[in-house]
Amino acid sequence: MIVILKNNAEKQKVDILKQWLENQKVSIHESMGEYQTVWGLVGDTSRIDTDLIEGLDIVEGVRRISEPYKQANRKFHPDDTVIDLGNGIKIGGGNFQFFAGPCSIESEEQIIEVAKAVKAAGAKILRGGAFKPRTSPYAFQGMREDGLKLLLKAKEITGMPIVTEIMDASHIDLFEDVDIIQVGARNMQNFELLKELGKLDKPIFLKRGLSSTYQELLMSAEYIMANGNQKVILCERGIRTFETATRNTLDLAAVPMLKEKTHLPVIIDPSHAAGIARLVKPMSFAAAACGADGLMIEVHNDPAKALCDGPQALRPEEFCEVVSGVEKIRNAIGV
Ligand code: PEP
Ligand code: MN
Repeated sequence: MIVILKNNAEKQKVDILKQWLENQKVSIHESMGEYQTVWGLVGDTSRIDTDLIEGLDIVEGVRRISEPYKQANRKFHPDDTVIDLGNGIKIGGGNFQFFAGPCSIESEEQIIEVAKAVKAAGAKILRGGAFKPRTSPYAFQGMREDGLKLLLKAKEITGMPIVTEIMDASHIDLFEDVDIIQVGARNMQNFELLKELGKLDKPIFLKRGLSSTYQELLMSAEYIMANGNQKVILCERGIRTFETATRNTLDLAAVPMLKEKTHLPVIIDPSHAAGIARLVKPMSFAAAACGADGLMIEVHNDPAKALCDGPQALRPEEFCEVVSGVEKIRNAIGV
């Protein structure tokens, strides 16, 4: 971190700042120019509040040189993180996976039928929401505990690991047999929830917030990792822009950019990004082509009757086409 002091900064205040910084266990390399003094801070500056320093009347400016996230940072962990779910199912480091299933679990028949269909098509991980974050309090809120039980039943029948969203830290015990816990876009910065998930030994599927930057997403991953849990999977699911023709705007640059910054796997969710079923296939192909580690896709056996997100759901046969097309693309580009 670099601190630029103002010309004519009062010596007494400069000494107080110096002392304060040294108490934060960073050393100061001073470079005095004719008009300005620049300090290079050496050591772990991740806990230093740059806004606090920048607000001082003796400080001209502050610049971070290294990112404020350490554990998620590729600089300190050059190899890709590979999340191993057992049974040969791995995510990241060249292992591409499909996470597929309905937006919400609606009934035993529905989840089991969809689970069997996505498994037959090549998906290895079954998704299904039990606790649903809905914009309207009057909309279907998910089957909650009953939905989780049905998802566990689908896991038992198909042998597929499952991913489902948590909305409240007080529900963690209910997720004991869930293989991957999802943190939805709306909870990406629910820091108390992230801290609790950091205490688990279970993969966390962290979705990017609707208006969050890459750095904010990585800082949320850092919350989980700083509390001990290194198994974080990132997901870009579309961000909010001025465009209204699609539900969100799929930010595919997130894939190569995040992969430069972090060693964590990056998954694309084209369903929530586009909000329109017919866009899911082309966006999936694009995601595979730009190096995503997998796709999360909503699939429903009867999209027209879905209780949530029907317009973006693929029918199983359409999902099959996505899987085979993605395989061809990955083979063609040699990943
Ligand atoms: C979901 O995956 O079911 C979901 C609600 O997604 P998001 O948090 O991305 O809106
Ligand atoms: Mn959905």
